[in-house]
Amino acid sequence: MRVLGIEGTAWCASAALHDTETDETRIESNPYEPESGGIHPREAAEHMADAIPEVVDTVLSDAAAEPGDRGIDAVAFSRGPGLGPCLRVVGTAARSLAGALDVPLVGVNHMVAHLEVGRHRSGFENPVCLNASGANAHLLGYHDGRYRILGETMDAGVGNAIDKFTRHVGWSHPGGPKVEAAAVEADGGALLDLPYVVKGMDFSFSGISSAANDAYDDGEPIEEVCFALQEHVFGMLTEVSERALSLTGADELVLGGGVGQNDRLREMLDTMCAARDAEFYAPESKFLRDNAGMIAILGAKMAAAGDTLQIPESSIDPNFRPDEVPVTWRSDASS
Ligand code: ATP
Repeated sequence: MRVLGIEGTAWCASAALHDTETDETRIESNPYEPESGGIHPREAAEHMADAIPEVVDTVLSDAAAEPGDRGIDAVAFSRGPGLGPCLRVVGTAARSLAGALDVPLVGVNHMVAHLEVGRHRSGFENPVCLNASGANAHLLGYHDGRYRILGETMDAGVGNAIDKFTRHVGWSHPGGPKVEAAAVEADGGALLDLPYVVKGMDFSFSGISSAANDAYDDGEPIEEVCFALQEHVFGMLTEVSERALSLTGADELVLGGGVGQNDRLREMLDTMCAARDAEFYAPESKFLRDNAGMIAILGAKMAAAGDTLQIPESSIDPNFRPDEVPVTWRSDASS
């Protein structure tokens, strides 16, 4: 089966073709880069309207040029969560393409796709997933036909919390990679004290962004603030991940989301998993940040399970939570 995936929940216009026979996933992406500040929903939607046709065209042209082109068997799209104006562009494109190609339409939850790409590529059976992305941060575990939210941020997404600090200091979006680079330059002396807020398996980032801004305004070296920001934020994520493994008895952890590209976060999670004899897997960068490959991979599993949409029921959902999705594609889905 060959499935065309289309992603465009916020900043990344992306199309991908996943071939279930070869397990190859060809991804074409075109990011929206704000000139200043953070992501502006109207500008991001305008970017989607321009870029989605381009990336889809590139992927379909490449596929058609392959010897023995086998066509497309389904079109999958990110239905939410995300920015409404962006999702509407993606939904319209996917419905049109599915109709024109006369193939089934599959509506994919973007956060479940972040999890499933890690499960697919690791071969893990039943992992806990830490989704550390821009607009979200949560822990997911499978139980009784759904991915349950074991813990989540009580306010900001993890990437957004970091980007809030970098906007304050005048760095361009996205801020996460710049914080990572600056943190490496810290002298590793006394760790600045920032708010560390964990309640069970939930956590909060809103206070830490403001405290980091204040520390910078008070003259603390930016490298030290970046170092402390990472140590606190990733420490919280590692603590709740360990608690989730302990609660569920799982011995596999997968990482999802754009912040998962950070080496320090991966190091902390890897160390924690090794200490409790659990396995840890982080997909390569192109599958961590927003990308259509994960939409096509999960879309193929859903299509194979007959989990497709009729056009009238294919509306987008900006607040689509992962635990709203009936899991139809796992072999243990009925247990
Ligand atoms: P979501 O998947 O929740 O819709 P999103 O659309 O913002 O989130 P992602 O691609 O998952 O997109 O994540 C983008 C975020 O990842 C940005 O906030 C960015 O700063 C952050 N990020 C990217 N690289 C790094 C890094 N090396 N270290 C820390 N954060 C990073």
